[in-house]
Amino acid sequence: MKFAFFDAKPYDIPGFRKYGEEHRIDFQFFDTKLSENTAGLAQGCEGVCVFVNDQVNAPVIDRLAACGVRLVALRCAGFNNVDTRYAYGKIHVVHVPTYSPHAVAEHAMAMLLTSVRRIHKAYNRTKDFNFSLTGLTGFDLNGKTVGVVGTGSIGCVFVNICRGFCMNVIAYDKFPKENSDIRYVSLEELFRESDILSFHCPLTKETYHMVDRVAIEKMKKGVVLINTSRGALIDAEALLEGIKERKIGAACLDVYEEESDIFFEDFSGHIVNDDTLARLITMPNVLVTSHQAFLTEEALDNIARTTVENIEEFFKKGACGNELCYRCGKTANCRQHKVEKCF
Ligand code: NAD
Repeated sequence: MKFAFFDAKPYDIPGFRKYGEEHRIDFQFFDTKLSENTAGLAQGCEGVCVFVNDQVNAPVIDRLAACGVRLVALRCAGFNNVDTRYAYGKIHVVHVPTYSPHAVAEHAMAMLLTSVRRIHKAYNRTKDFNFSLTGLTGFDLNGKTVGVVGTGSIGCVFVNICRGFCMNVIAYDKFPKENSDIRYVSLEELFRESDILSFHCPLTKETYHMVDRVAIEKMKKGVVLINTSRGALIDAEALLEGIKERKIGAACLDVYEEESDIFFEDFSGHIVNDDTLARLITMPNVLVTSHQAFLTEEALDNIARTTVENIEEFFKKGACGNELCYRCGKTANCRQHKVEKCF
């Protein structure tokens, strides 16, 4: 079985090669992203394997279907880059619902600690034999209120990590967990009461720009924002304004709303044509990582293994438990629950 593997990175290839060989799936690795212009590379393949910044929109779906592709295997959890509604009836889509919630939650905490204790600045200073402490004053996390948006698998791990730091945890979720010891509040109250806000909900029409100018006005002065979810949860222009007005104390961004043509690539010798990102990066209280939160050995292994198992399950049974469609989970008459396939 042949699969076109888009946006292949050196850290992806060993795991997929290993599990691919075990399951007789021949991955053809392409470093280009999937788009209308590159979809033709999948000609002769049963499926494509894609990541967060590959485009799986209507024209791409049509092209893939015309190439004979039957399955889009996402090697990630989030699927905001896939038009699942358009895909319905044309092409099946599977994803990796969880691979290591710990990887992402631990990265969120790593960014928070780095930012509030100025570790990134201290590292650069001592590398240069500058042992001055001026400007490195941080604050204790102990006793601070952290507001968690989205208490799914990653959010819950993050809640527990924060409890380990003796923080006061409050949360907002559109679908709060029943019988949970998490203290849920409204989004308004979360914005009003939190010293630190961490985002762990999916990007949907509803959550797009949930942090905008109006939301920032409601927040505490000096609030620290952590986004390891999807960039467009935060209006980057509004964030920049909030930072310039000294309202936002710090921002830890593993994702950025216009990241798709920038993140994962080396632009160190180039001029980046994104003034908002460039301005954010110049701010002393903004920490940016390049969508790296998932990147642990354990997560990469789980991603490769689960993706290959998804592919095998789909082609053996004609159905897969990790299939995605716009209906799944929404309607009682969803076919996946009854006959294990969406169409
Ligand atoms: P999950 O599905 O387990 O949890 C998501 C939670 O968000 C659920 O509890 C859900 O009820 C809640 N939610 C849904 N709509 C909401 C809304 N409108 N407002 C508030 N809460 C809402 O997902 P997860 O595995 O915890 O992942 C969370 C997000 O993290 C993913 O959507 C993905 O975008 C992102 N992610 C990022 C990385 C990375 O490397 N930076 C890696 C994996 C996942």
